[in-house]
Amino acid sequence: MINIHCFTFSPFAENTYLLYDETGACVVIDPGCLAQSEKETLSDFIRDHKLEVKALLQTHTHLDHVFGSAYIKRKFSVKMYMHRLDLPVLADVESRCRLWGIGGYEPVEPDEFLEEGQSFTFGNSSLEIIHVPGHAPGHIAFISHNERFIIGGDCLFRRSIGRTDFPLCSHEDLMNSIRTKFFTLPDDYIVYAGHMDPTTIGEEKKFNPFFRN
Ligand SMILES: [Zn+2]
Ligand SMILES: [Zn+2]
Repeated sequence: MINIHCFTFSPFAENTYLLYDETGACVVIDPGCLAQSEKETLSDFIRDHKLEVKALLQTHTHLDHVFGSAYIKRKFSVKMYMHRLDLPVLADVESRCRLWGIGGYEPVEPDEFLEEGQSFTFGNSSLEIIHVPGHAPGHIAFISHNERFIIGGDCLFRRSIGRTDFPLCSHEDLMNSIRTKFFTLPDDYIVYAGHMDPTTIGEEKKFNPFFRN
C-alpha cells in the first residue's frame, strides 16, 4: 500500500510528493522546497513518520521542481534520478532563477537516468516509468498500477495542461503525450500533478477544455 503525501511549496505553488509504503521505504518526487522552513517541513515529516528515503525522483527539472533537490540528496544521502533528455533544462535552472529574481537555489547533478519501460522499486512497491515529452523534453511520469494512480508532473492538470511557452517545450508533443500516454490509462486512475489538485483520467477526458471537441 503506497501512501502519498503532498506538500505545496514555494511561490510557484509546486506539489512535492512523498511516496512511502508499509516498510517505511520512501521516495521524494520533485522537491520544490525553497525556504529553509519548507525544507524543514519536509524533513520533519520524514523523521516523524520514521521513513527511510531511498531515492530522489524527478518528473522533470524546471526550477520549481528542483529547488530542494540538492538538499534532499545531501540530507538523506540518496541518488537523484531523471530522464537524460532533461539535462539541458536542468543546466538552465540557475539562469532561470536569476531571471525570476529567485535566490537560494543550490545547483544539483543527477546520479542515474530513467527511461520509459523501466520500473522503479522501493520497499514492496513499484512504479512504472513513461516518457511524456512536451512540457519538458525529458519529462517522465510514475505509474502505480496496483494503486491506480499516476504522478504526472506538469503535463495534465485538473481542467488544464502544462505550459509550453518555455524554452525546449513543444505543445504538439505535450498534446500527443497526454492523448497517447495519459488518456490510454483506465478512467479511474488518479492523476497527482505538479500543481493544483488531483484529478482522474476519466474526469479530464470529459471536462478538460483542451480536449473537448
Ligand atoms: Zn514544469
Ligand atoms: Zn511546475
